[in-house]
Amino acid sequence: MKFVFSPAYRADIGLHVFPTQKYYLVHDKLKEEGILTENNVFAPKKPSPDDLLKIIDQEYLDDLLEHRLTARTFPSEMPVNKAIINAQILFCGGSYLAAKIAKDSGIGFHIGGGFHHAFRDHAEGFCYLNDVVFAAVMMLEQGVDKIAVIDCDLHQGNGTARFFENEKRVFTFSIHQEQLYPKKERSNLDIGLDIGTGDDEYLQKLETALDTVYSDFRPDLVIYVAGADPYILDRLGSLSITHAGLKKRDELVIKRARTGAIPIIAVLAGGYAEDTDDTVEIHCNTARVMAETFPPKAE
Ligand SMILES: [Zn+2]
Repeated sequence: MKFVFSPAYRADIGLHVFPTQKYYLVHDKLKEEGILTENNVFAPKKPSPDDLLKIIDQEYLDDLLEHRLTARTFPSEMPVNKAIINAQILFCGGSYLAAKIAKDSGIGFHIGGGFHHAFRDHAEGFCYLNDVVFAAVMMLEQGVDKIAVIDCDLHQGNGTARFFENEKRVFTFSIHQEQLYPKKERSNLDIGLDIGTGDDEYLQKLETALDTVYSDFRPDLVIYVAGADPYILDRLGSLSITHAGLKKRDELVIKRARTGAIPIIAVLAGGYAEDTDDTVEIHCNTARVMAETFPPKAE
């Protein structure tokens, strides 16, 4: 199993609900457990401006590269500075690298990414650049025929849905809390959950939806947006999913990829638990499930 990570992901954003230290904490914990080693973690490259223009407009790119506070960058609810923009550009390279790794080896785990609220012409919800969209666009260019985005973050993947609304080669699925940010776009398949939804109902609905994704659409690559924020103690959400429920979620998504021999990557996305250890544990569980589901081949 291979990981993608960069020390630059931890950009200082001051006092903020988004714990950017989580990237390091997940990295370090997986290293302690021996799942991640010096030999299976790879650093992403920054995509070129030309490549970034495949997912955003020139005016918006100029704002980002010059760190300008404008109507396009302002809705990020993040500072606009060099370290943060640099990290978000790198996240694009990171999800793309994880996808390339998965195409060769079956799986890739990005200890970053999942910035699914960014649009072609503006930022939103802590997201400047949509790395999920970037990875998918680059992989389509490289000849992957059909890509499914399985977005299990608390929030709808609105930027991803909008970007691919007329792209038949990409199937967007989002399962999220309905009464919550963002204003909803139309994914190929949306499941809006009521406040208080618990493990059983969540997993049942997810399993049915995965039939549509895996059996009907039949992707050649899956991008799994494994947000930690559906968690019961998340500060931004009102779902009631437990650690065990989220781990079962990971199993449902990841095991079906293995059964179908479909390459899959996971990206982290959101997670705003009062105790950052909970967020880190949920992300680590996704990596553990991936490692258990795809044990190293015997030589
Ligand atoms: Zn979220």
